[in-house]
Amino acid sequence: MLIRLLLIAFILVLVGRTVRAFLGKGPSQSRDISPTPLVHDPVCGLYVDRDRALVAKSPSGEPVYFCSQTCRDKYLAPPSPESSPPPLLPKQRSE
Ligand SMILES: [Zn+2]
Repeated sequence: MLIRLLLIAFILVLVGRTVRAFLGKGPSQSRDISPTPLVHDPVCGLYVDRDRALVAKSPSGEPVYFCSQTCRDKYLAPPSPESSPPPLLPKQRSE
């Protein structure tokens, strides 16, 4: 009988600790819950910490993240002449 009471007390202590572990850790644990999100570098394909990444704006205005200045420069560099559209031809008069 005494053993049963001890067991119940033991279980209550365990449950209490578990509940406290869930509720009580507060601010110190909430910092660990949100690690730095990883962002994708579209130039080299790496994933980098958003805090360390370099940022540029995409043509649509959204932020784009890069692992290094080199990747950012590549992304921001104007397209090479081969891929640019041909100059407009002068209009031919059909009349
Ligand atoms: Zn990169």
